[in-house]
Amino acid sequence: MKGDATAAGVREKAKSPLLGLGEREIAALVPSAPSYTARQIRAFCFAGRDIDGMTSLSKTLRASLKEDYVANPVSVMRVYVSRDGSKKYLFSLLDGNLIEGVFMPHDYGNTLCVSTQIGCRMHCAFCASGADGLVRDLHFSEILGQVVAVNAAEGGSVKERAVTNIVLMGSGEPLDNYDNVMRFLDEVTAADGLNVSERNISLSTSGLADKMKRFADSGRKVTLSVSLHSPFDEERSKLMPVNRRYNIAAVTDAARYYFKHTGRRVIFEYTLIAGVNDSDDCAEKLKELTKGFPAHINLIRLNPSGTSLKRPTADAAKEFMLKLNAMGVSATVRHSFGEDIEGACGQLRRRVSAELAAEDKESARVHTEDRKGSKFTTA
Ligand code: SAH
Repeated sequence: MKGDATAAGVREKAKSPLLGLGEREIAALVPSAPSYTARQIRAFCFAGRDIDGMTSLSKTLRASLKEDYVANPVSVMRVYVSRDGSKKYLFSLLDGNLIEGVFMPHDYGNTLCVSTQIGCRMHCAFCASGADGLVRDLHFSEILGQVVAVNAAEGGSVKERAVTNIVLMGSGEPLDNYDNVMRFLDEVTAADGLNVSERNISLSTSGLADKMKRFADSGRKVTLSVSLHSPFDEERSKLMPVNRRYNIAAVTDAARYYFKHTGRRVIFEYTLIAGVNDSDDCAEKLKELTKGFPAHINLIRLNPSGTSLKRPTADAAKEFMLKLNAMGVSATVRHSFGEDIEGACGQLRRRVSAELAAEDKESARVHTEDRKGSKFTTA
């Protein structure tokens, strides 16, 4: 039968995702169905149902849809539960690639950190996501699919979402996959999509200045976070090669532009590395860079796995924060994932991909929940 994978290992034919398609796009796929069917299918997809679960559609329609389509291209493969209730989700995609996301419960709601690319082109010195370069961009349905899958897995519905806040801070550089990320934002905020408020979404960029301006001009009002990591070009270029293309002046200029055009305060992310970017000179220079502009600095203690760079102590991070505060600079230390290898961006995907390759795993669609101790911790 067409599209049927068998135990003998017949390859399943490539299917397309329905999630995130507009009503008109869906209607074109089911021309003989009644006019309201497309709206129903779109809503079912956002509710996390698979095609079999779209029970108000006729059996024949479901069977024919299943030949060429899946609802969500993202499947939950494993869930790692931390002691504090955070969960790291490992997802598999239709082509067997793996991506990861982190679910973080808070008093005010729950945040999901999603990936926007498989791997990354930025090659930041301390980041596991870029260690092997870019594998491919995620399609917008694959970004959306992470939210839909976790929302359903965490017991949420479309009306009462378990995922209330979204941060684009997982693997990848969101502005390097601009069109898919914009379509993702449109669908996740759509009234007939997941209806998440733009104010509850943050996008983190390594500082692609021209795209930051384009994003500001697009009229979307999500929170923009910019990874700064050093206020000095020479040092920033060592940590973030992208600085050779867009230096600090270009990045801060684009951040000011973003504020001016959206009215949204820009957040600078600053991964603290002991003896590298935590000097008094750095604090002084940060004050200068953020002058006259409502910026906030989010200090993150380095997760040092895989590099020779050193993580500062919690006290040292606090001291740096207080130094900035004393100079009138808004800064806080962010709770960050611990030193365990699974904690930082991209590391879980790399390890499990290597394991799967070693085991020659044939199926990536197993949903297991590993509750045996935490695979990652929060500081
Ligand atoms: N590409 C985007 C978003 C992904 S990373 C960006 O660069 O902003 C999200 C944040 O985590 C970035 O600030 C990144 O520099 C930081 N990060 C990555 N690996 C880290 C590590 N090992 N320790 C601390 N912060 C890290």
